[in-house]
Amino acid sequence: MTCRKRKGSCSKSRQLWRGNVIPYQNSLLNSKRKKRQLQQRLESNDVDTQRLREELKRREAESLRLRSETKHLEQRIHEEKAARVAEKAELVRQLRSQPPASVDEETWQYQNDEGDWVSYSSRSNDELMGALKEGKKTIILTIDQKGYEVDFTLMKQMNQRTEKRRSIRLFFGLPNHWGMTDEDALKLLKGEVQDAQEASDASVSMGTVLTTISEGTRMAMRAPFKKFVRKVQDLNWLSELESLLNSSALRHDQSRCHCPHGDSKYRLLEAYQVRNLYLWRRYQRFVRNLGDKQNQHGIVPEEIQPPVCEALTNFAEGLQVDLPCNERLLFHGTMKFGYAKAIAVEGFDNRIARQGLYGKGTYFASQTCKSAQYATKRGRAEKASHRMPGTMLVARVALGDPYYTEGKYNESRPPTKNSHPVDDSDDERTVLCDSLIARPGIQAGQHPQAHMEFVTFAPEQAYPEFILRFVEED
Ligand SMILES: [Zn+2]
Repeated sequence: MTCRKRKGSCSKSRQLWRGNVIPYQNSLLNSKRKKRQLQQRLESNDVDTQRLREELKRREAESLRLRSETKHLEQRIHEEKAARVAEKAELVRQLRSQPPASVDEETWQYQNDEGDWVSYSSRSNDELMGALKEGKKTIILTIDQKGYEVDFTLMKQMNQRTEKRRSIRLFFGLPNHWGMTDEDALKLLKGEVQDAQEASDASVSMGTVLTTISEGTRMAMRAPFKKFVRKVQDLNWLSELESLLNSSALRHDQSRCHCPHGDSKYRLLEAYQVRNLYLWRRYQRFVRNLGDKQNQHGIVPEEIQPPVCEALTNFAEGLQVDLPCNERLLFHGTMKFGYAKAIAVEGFDNRIARQGLYGKGTYFASQTCKSAQYATKRGRAEKASHRMPGTMLVARVALGDPYYTEGKYNESRPPTKNSHPVDDSDDERTVLCDSLIARPGIQAGQHPQAHMEFVTFAPEQAYPEFILRFVEED
């Protein structure tokens, strides 16, 4: 019902209006508030959304980064794996293709598809050696019921059924520093260069191989000195050897030695490199046995102390003196050139060794001035001169596990020491050392030891590398 009176003049309708309007106003206010609140919430939601969006963006970027990183890592793992596989394959290849550093006899080998050299069986090896020595040009080998024709001229083997050809070689196990290849040695063995080279430098050393291989040890032992040596002609080598003599007459602390030969200027007259395959193999066998012995007794030899002089160590690098048996280059003086010749042919012989201060063995020194005492008949009293030149050997010596003596020693074999058994149940036991070392400063004779001396007790424990003939100048 509406009031016809002027708006606002009717108290009734005013009342009614108020009664309707006020709640309406209130509700309007409420809704405005709500709207505001909603707007605020919306605004705040917008902010949240924006924040979330940014967060999402950030996470997406992070995820992208991680994904790329993962991919990168996977790639690296893959590469690493591939590298490992390749490395392993390479090691296996090297193990197969690189024959042992030393062989006891020359070995026939063929090249497989991977390029590795594989040794024939010992029966085939014997057949091949036999045919070669009989001067045959070809031979038929039967391996696993398959026939192979071997041609010594082409150095090929051919499968008779498939006609597949492979290269072959005769591996001698010659030391690198002899500068002689398997091909050189084989040529010699075939007799291709036997004649017309008697005067040449190369033929002399190759003669070693020929004599040793084709005529056997007995013959080799009787062969003349020149079969086993090569006179050093190379001026670089000669100069290096002379400087080795001079720079090794120093103490371990590099100071000048005050012994009678300590102030000498050593002049090299001539030098010979010993290339005796028989002795070389004998020495390599000794080194292998030394390794076996050390494994058996759980011995890990410590480095030689004090170390041998720098000049010897540096020179040794060129000769690959690095076997894990404390292999060192050392000097050995001989009263006569003839004795050195005998050593080049037959090796060091402990049976004729003198009884010295440190036992009945072969004595070596790391200082030229010490070995010079034994390099002539009157070495202790006089310096080597043109009238009486000195002779000194440079030898590689497998010192193994040495015993450091504190005084005089009278035995003809090395002292013993406690070993550490590999098997726990085994009691500790004694084992022979491999060599004896007298360090400077110890008192065994009238005077304190001035030089470092090394004594070996097995003839095959050292290999003579060079024979040097020299004079000393003041
Ligand atoms: Zn000295």
